[in-house]
Amino acid sequence: MVYTSISARILLNIEALNMTESAGNYVKHRRAPVVIPTSNGYILRYVPVISGESIAHAYQEILAKIAEETGLPVCNLCRQGIFLKHTDKNVFKRTGIPAPDFKKPESVEETIVKHCVVEDIGGFLNTDAALKRTSRFYAGYMIPALDSIKTSAAEAQFHVRYDPLSIQTQAIYNIEAGSALYVLTLGLDIDGIGVSSIALENSKPKLLVSPEERSKRIEAAFKAMHLLVTQMLFGAKRTRFTPNWKIMSLAILTTHPLTLNVRPAHTSKYIEETIESVNHAVELLGKGASKIDEKALLAYYSAEGKPVAGESRVSIYEAKTPDEAFNISYEYIQELLGMK
Ligand SMILES: [Zn+2]
Repeated sequence: MVYTSISARILLNIEALNMTESAGNYVKHRRAPVVIPTSNGYILRYVPVISGESIAHAYQEILAKIAEETGLPVCNLCRQGIFLKHTDKNVFKRTGIPAPDFKKPESVEETIVKHCVVEDIGGFLNTDAALKRTSRFYAGYMIPALDSIKTSAAEAQFHVRYDPLSIQTQAIYNIEAGSALYVLTLGLDIDGIGVSSIALENSKPKLLVSPEERSKRIEAAFKAMHLLVTQMLFGAKRTRFTPNWKIMSLAILTTHPLTLNVRPAHTSKYIEETIESVNHAVELLGKGASKIDEKALLAYYSAEGKPVAGESRVSIYEAKTPDEAFNISYEYIQELLGMK
């Protein structure tokens, strides 16, 4: 499986990217419990977070836009950012996609994947055919980096809509804004794009689109992830709370045939730790009677110091910018898939 795993440290100041309920005129930032290791054991803190659902929503919006601009199929609902997906028969009526035979899950999957690249990559659950297609795109909660979690906070900002002529039309409201060095964690299962989720008897994955279209879909999927991160195209409330942001560091690991992961970027040493752990994994897989020739490339960018790494079994590329790290990784994916 060609798989890309990403972790990044992103400094976000004064953001309201993921809000939860409002109580009266008070709008709360999403918070979640996080366990923090300390010299005296573990402590629990509630900190500002940005949900994986929010990141995945933004990713699918970018993907829909890229699909529309490049002539890839995308259904009416996904094009509008309404990610109902083809949950049941009624959704087919709304999107105009011809309804398949719901007694045949393989034909339901093929119909939906062929007609909508967002549902190919973002997955769906169809209850009429009892069919689940797992998303090829993975996103975790963005939480403050553990090495600087004490410097994270969500604080209410006081605002007034002012009218000098009428006190009745004046309105006071409070919006919680968060600031933290956040850790972003993403993944992309490239092998699964355009391919059926249903195991066949001969165990070979069935292509649901032409090889040319599959290449275009892979490119769109990777481009959407590239833009999501490097242009900070995620989260809500950006009309009045566009955050001040900077990517402090980023690691992109691409592996084949087994899935290996980058270490979550909770300390500035995560790139070194990733190199070490991937080296161990590649060594482990290359040993014994069932040897696997695991291929891996780590492209990283760091404004927090250069990682110290010894000799490596895997290819390591130090990029001058986050964009360069994405470009190098995409070239490697094309090489692994024979797309070049
Ligand atoms: Zn769709």
